Amino acid sequence: MSTRRTALVTGGGSGIGRAISLRLAENGFATAVLDLNGDAAEQVAEQARGKGYEAVALGGVDVSDRDQVNDAVTRVRKTLGPALVLVNNAGITGYKRFLNISDELWDRMLAINLSGPFYLCQAVVPDMIEAGWGRIVNISSSSAQGGQQYMTHYVASKAGLVGLTKALALEFGPAGITVNTIPPGFVDTPMLRMSEERGLLGGSVDQHAERTPVRRPGRPEDIAAACAFLVSDDAGYITGQVIGVNGGRNT
Ligand code: NAD
Repeated sequence: MSTRRTALVTGGGSGIGRAISLRLAENGFATAVLDLNGDAAEQVAEQARGKGYEAVALGGVDVSDRDQVNDAVTRVRKTLGPALVLVNNAGITGYKRFLNISDELWDRMLAINLSGPFYLCQAVVPDMIEAGWGRIVNISSSSAQGGQQYMTHYVASKAGLVGLTKALALEFGPAGITVNTIPPGFVDTPMLRMSEERGLLGGSVDQHAERTPVRRPGRPEDIAAACAFLVSDDAGYITGQVIGVNGGRNT
């Protein structure tokens, strides 16, 4: 990569987003680590800076709030330059029998997992158009491919993200912007361990690993590696795609 570029990673304070932030910083991107959890975002940015990379934290930003998103993107533009790489990774999960999903739960899930990426994309795409280059990676979920019981609101939000990805790819391909989605499956993060502790996985992480073709849970770094490729110049002919990183659990 010849020029320094700026990457914005949402939910960058934990799990998959943390690994993506550190990997993109390592690959030479000036990296903005956005997270609702300010301490977590600062720790990740600090870790990257400790290795000599350029990174800033955008803590306390809620992706479901359009004003906060616009303000954060403006801050990135001022401190690091326009974000030409966007990774929409922030998300929440939830388990509820379908008939017990309240309007509030449904709205909150959609607001964070789908409206958040919508706001972020609208905020960064004008800069990408001006640059004639951009990369967007949306972190969806393998559950959007195969479904998942008791997670209708989550699965619907992630399936919506797949649709957002495909439609944006068509509209902005001519502008030099690629848009892809990685639907992770079974990645060992705080989110997964919380689900295990609450008995919501239908077995332990180890039992799931035994049923996974590559015989291990995914690592956040597995997702980060795929993401690093998708935001590279080499991936310029890949757009509108669903790139599964799941150890063969979904094919
Ligand atoms: P995680 O809980 O470890 O990290 C999520 C991060 O997002 C946290 O730091 C959290 O503070 C942040 N966040 C949550 N709500 C936010 C908001 N409103 N605004 C800003 N930041 C917010 O989760 P993870 O496992 O690393 O998951 C990352 C993404 O990958 C999520 O979108 C998740 O749905 C998806 N995913 C994960 C798995 C898995 O196996 N871990 C599987 C499928 C999909």
